[in-house]
Amino acid sequence: MSQFRDDDGDRTVPDVSEPATSGAIDGKVGKVTAEQTSTGTESAETTGGEMEIRTLLILGASGDLTGRLLLPGLGKLIAQGRTQGLSLVGAGSDDWDQDRWRERVDEAFGSCTEGANDAGLRELRKVQENTEYHMVDVTAEGALAELLGSVKGPAAVYFALPPAVSQQACEVLKPEDVPEGTRLVMEKPFGSSLVSAASLNGTLLRLVPEDHIHRVDHFLGKATVFNILGLRFANRLLEPLFSNEHVQKVEIFYDESLALEGRARYYDKAGALRDMIQSHLLQIMALMALNAPATLHERDLRDHIGSVLRASSVKPDFAKSTRRARYTAGEVDGRKIPDYVAEEGIDPARNTETLAEIEVSINNSRWTGVPFILRSGKALGKKQKEAIVTFKPVNHLPTGFKGVDAPTRLRIGFGPDTLRLEIDVNGPGDIFTLDREVMETNLHSADLLPYGEVLDGILTSDPMLSVRGDIAEDCWRIVEPVLKAWEANEVPLEEYAAGSSGPAGWETSRDDTPMRTVDAEA
Ligand code: NDP
Repeated sequence: MSQFRDDDGDRTVPDVSEPATSGAIDGKVGKVTAEQTSTGTESAETTGGEMEIRTLLILGASGDLTGRLLLPGLGKLIAQGRTQGLSLVGAGSDDWDQDRWRERVDEAFGSCTEGANDAGLRELRKVQENTEYHMVDVTAEGALAELLGSVKGPAAVYFALPPAVSQQACEVLKPEDVPEGTRLVMEKPFGSSLVSAASLNGTLLRLVPEDHIHRVDHFLGKATVFNILGLRFANRLLEPLFSNEHVQKVEIFYDESLALEGRARYYDKAGALRDMIQSHLLQIMALMALNAPATLHERDLRDHIGSVLRASSVKPDFAKSTRRARYTAGEVDGRKIPDYVAEEGIDPARNTETLAEIEVSINNSRWTGVPFILRSGKALGKKQKEAIVTFKPVNHLPTGFKGVDAPTRLRIGFGPDTLRLEIDVNGPGDIFTLDREVMETNLHSADLLPYGEVLDGILTSDPMLSVRGDIAEDCWRIVEPVLKAWEANEVPLEEYAAGSSGPAGWETSRDDTPMRTVDAEA
């Protein structure tokens, strides 16, 4: 059920992990009950007592995110009968008529009927028939306010707009323009620095309370979150071992074989550190490192995530604690890839990295001294999307064993979602010779598309998977000194051939963990 999502969010995500009692665990979660689904009963309140979201207002209705990810995610959610009585309103600066918008919705919803139930299909048709489009410049004084006042509330306002436009749109809104119960949904990137994220938080908090703000991280599916928590906290074999007493290092990889894929306009200004590590991988790190929350309530969970991130930093000798590189021409899966700098729309002077690695220190009693190595890049020969926990060697290996003693490793793979435990066993053949065995199983995944999960949280007023304001700021605080050091060229920009495993000098580019040869005579 666990999963990492590609940045474009198009991996499917099941949802077995959601606790059966989800409504009860979080008093605010307002799941549509099976009974409501089958009867189509409409209610103004969620099961948790929160006002149910009646309208999803998508700003940027003609954009890429809306067409490719949001509408299909929404369609699947509705088709499964997980929401009811919802109005869908699209808005944008394009002069579209109602038919053009409806075509877009129909096209996206057309692929969502697989696995649908009757109530869901009815609901899907209703949404398709009643959806509306409004042409509006959201940055114009009073324009968004007027639109907000005209839709059925409470509404969730999805800012599927260029980040600067979203910010401007929020700045022109006045608190009195925002009806009670409105949710504001912000896409990534959330700000571009600690200062800008804090300022955006200030703007949003002027309009609605924190728990009505959803900062989307579609990468972090519910299944991913609960898989990690389940493994760590439901197993006596693992729970006590996650600490500096037993763990040597934790690595979190997100190596993609995809290259630029026409995304120069966005990526060349972002780079691997901002695009993946600043947001997604730090969140995963926090889940791997947090203390057990008392409950799975969003407050408990996000408090613990925040606590880990507040304790985290990158050691200031950045030439040692960070690495960056850019791909040159090569071949990935039989496809020829040009030099990154030769791709259309790239400005070589920006020195954008396509592979980044940072070593984060978590300065608390559980983790001090254990490096958390976060790495992500593009155009790599091997897709590697996993968290690897490498345990320390045993205090004493009985004399007499032979072969190689390799560290015990636990690997949580993301897409495909797997769990691997690498351990030493005896034999085969000579019973005194240590050998390596891998125990492997699949983890479960959710049955919604990534953006279906995101919207599910928003429409049920569950901020569990949304990035809380203080956490968004802390993620910038952690990486900002690194970004500055890179801008000042304190860390060399290395190169690697597309299709390789990264610069040869990087330990994370090598395949195997060093093993210790043991000797019967020792
Ligand atoms: P696009 O550029 O494709 O779409 C932006 C939309 O905003 C367009 O419909 C545009 O209309 C509209 N718009 C721009 N200015 C205004 C305005 N003043 N008033 C009303 N509408 C306006 O961007 P994306 O869809 O790719 O991205 C949207 C957001 O989602 C960004 O924050 C991005 O970072 C984030 N995101 C995108 C992903 C993706 O895969 N696309 C993945 C993850 C996050 P018009 O064309 O008429 O200007």
